[in-house]
Amino acid sequence: LLILGIETSCDETAAAVVARDSDGRGRILADVVFSQLDLHAAFGGVVPEIAARSHLTVIDQLIAEALARSQVRLADIDGIAVTSGPGLIGGLMVGLMTAKALAMATSKPMLAINHLEGHALTARLTDAVAFPYLLLLVSGGHTQLILVKGVGDYERWGTTIDDALGEAFDKTAKLLGLPYPGGPAVEAAAKAGDPQRFRLPIPLRGTPTPDFSFSGLKTALRQAAEREAPLSEATIADLCAGFQLAVTKSLADRVQIALRAFAYRFGTGAHPALVVAGGVAANQAIRATLLELAGTHGFRFIAPPLALCTDNAAMIAWAGAERMAAGFPADALDVAPRARWPLDADAKAVIGFGR
Ligand code: ATP
Ligand code: MG
Ligand code: FE
Repeated sequence: LLILGIETSCDETAAAVVARDSDGRGRILADVVFSQLDLHAAFGGVVPEIAARSHLTVIDQLIAEALARSQVRLADIDGIAVTSGPGLIGGLMVGLMTAKALAMATSKPMLAINHLEGHALTARLTDAVAFPYLLLLVSGGHTQLILVKGVGDYERWGTTIDDALGEAFDKTAKLLGLPYPGGPAVEAAAKAGDPQRFRLPIPLRGTPTPDFSFSGLKTALRQAAEREAPLSEATIADLCAGFQLAVTKSLADRVQIALRAFAYRFGTGAHPALVVAGGVAANQAIRATLLELAGTHGFRFIAPPLALCTDNAAMIAWAGAERMAAGFPADALDVAPRARWPLDADAKAVIGFGR
């Protein structure tokens, strides 16, 4: 199967061509991403209208570029996979309209993909990961623990009750006068800091369901920063280190609940995988903690390469290929973009974690 993928849900315009062989192995033939980071940096966050206009400006070129690099002609493609939600509506419309036009002009099937399914299945593109597995998705817009049982078959076990983790990093950076995006800046500053100087609260530690929360931590950090003002470089580093430590401990505590529940239900004899995805997966402290935690519980730890952790179209093309291979029908050309679209929305029976 040869699939063209298109992604425009947030601040990355992306196009990719991915092959799925009959044995289930994936190959990325081309993967091009245009990041709008520079366009939004001055505003300290993504501006939806600017994002949509930028997608419109570059999408045609990106698709042409992906096809050229993969040396695949549009006529040889088996399907067009496009993100149809969740995300910013203006951007989603640009990608979806483009995919519809291509599908109509070429009479190829179109697959409307849930962006989260793209993140969820990426590990199967890069590593031979078998179902079921546990996914920790930590990005600018999402913080979720998802049980991946099969293609199109998900249970959401945990989610954030306030901010997403990437968002918390971004807000922390802003508060401390560090540049956007905040994640890399906070991580870099934390390297020189003393994580013990400010003892920040570890969100939700000890609570029974694997949910997340970061707004209380953010408030504690703001209060500490206000007490110390004006902030020296050393204090900023200490605050970043304290924040990162609290976040890491909270993640470990939350994920550990899900690993136990998974082991109880499926066992760990098959060496199941704990998979991490999303931009925050770039964080080395978080990676190291998850790697150790997975090992302790008898799990393999899979972190796809960074370029595939952040938003890209290869994961969308791959999700389309997996859906086609699993026998899911193509989508009708009147499918509408969805700003909100939980991954388990289509599940027949959802046995939510503890609910
Ligand atoms: P979504 O994918 O949920 O729609 P998004 O596009 O904002 O949201 P990504 O592009 O996957 O998400 O990731 C961006 C986020 O990752 C930002 O919030 C950024 O601060 C965070 N991030 C990037 N690098 C790091 C890092 N080293 N440590 C912590 N966070 C990081
Ligand atoms: Mg992004
Ligand atoms: Fe994403």
